[in-house]
Amino acid sequence: MRVRVLGSAAGGGFPQWNCNCANCRGLRAGAIRAKPRSQCSIAVTGDASRESSKWMLLNASPDLRAQISSFPELLPKDGARGSSIASVLLTDAELDHVAGLLSLREAQPLELHCTRRVFEWLFEANPVFGALIEASRFRWRPMENRQSIERDEAGLQVEAIFVGGKVPTYVKTPVDDPSGATVAYKIHDRDASIVYVPAIKRISEELVSVAGECDCILFDGSFWSDDEMARRGVGTRTSLAMGHVPIDGPDGSLARLSHLRARKVYTHVNNTNPILDEDSPERRAVERAGWEVAEDGMDIVL
Ligand SMILES: [Zn+2]
Ligand SMILES: [Zn+2]
Repeated sequence: MRVRVLGSAAGGGFPQWNCNCANCRGLRAGAIRAKPRSQCSIAVTGDASRESSKWMLLNASPDLRAQISSFPELLPKDGARGSSIASVLLTDAELDHVAGLLSLREAQPLELHCTRRVFEWLFEANPVFGALIEASRFRWRPMENRQSIERDEAGLQVEAIFVGGKVPTYVKTPVDDPSGATVAYKIHDRDASIVYVPAIKRISEELVSVAGECDCILFDGSFWSDDEMARRGVGTRTSLAMGHVPIDGPDGSLARLSHLRARKVYTHVNNTNPILDEDSPERRAVERAGWEVAEDGMDIVL
């Protein structure tokens, strides 16, 4: 299996266009050791050796057009039109995970996997995204909890695991049961498996056990601490209110997942997060606990 990290930052990217936090300012000025990052997405294929291999895209960020251009494997190979991207999977309906779908609107039929809940919010309630379905750009395949589907053209099997997340702020109707708002994806081929979790509010025992079976986890590294936005002087919303379990703290991902034998990679890193500064104590702490921090263009071959 080959995983290409197309983007590794949370919404806004790094540096964020309107942000002057210590990280964004430091990166622009060259005052800190850090790398710019585009918004979070990965491409996965089960057969890295065949040139004709097809890819699955997990989430479609607003930076998707540039991300496709930066990775030759996703460019048209033969014929007048075409793409190696065969399907798109959505973990949720957050704008920074779906806005790139609009960049895939030129006639190229794609399979689209997401939960019924995400489909309702994104495509049924919104005429702009709905037009993508009406024009048959995407064929929707509903994902159920713990149900496996085959993506033969990419040589992969995919299973959705419903996890605790947040309802997108643009959803104005009351939601009694938010299940299906956010999912993790377990992806495997004959040889290896990964779990992709760019957004999660609570780490359940079920998720720990799924991650324990995998060779690699790509996990929500949005925020170091719950009060990071306030600490950085750029806002008041907490990490949990934005649907992300922080890295640090007794219920944080560092405490809950560092024991796993899997290769562990933080992704979806917010521009305020001190782990982006390669010389920070927080970066050293995650590395000491066995974690890597994803970068754009990172290749994970399993
Ligand atoms: Zn996001
Ligand atoms: Zn910033």
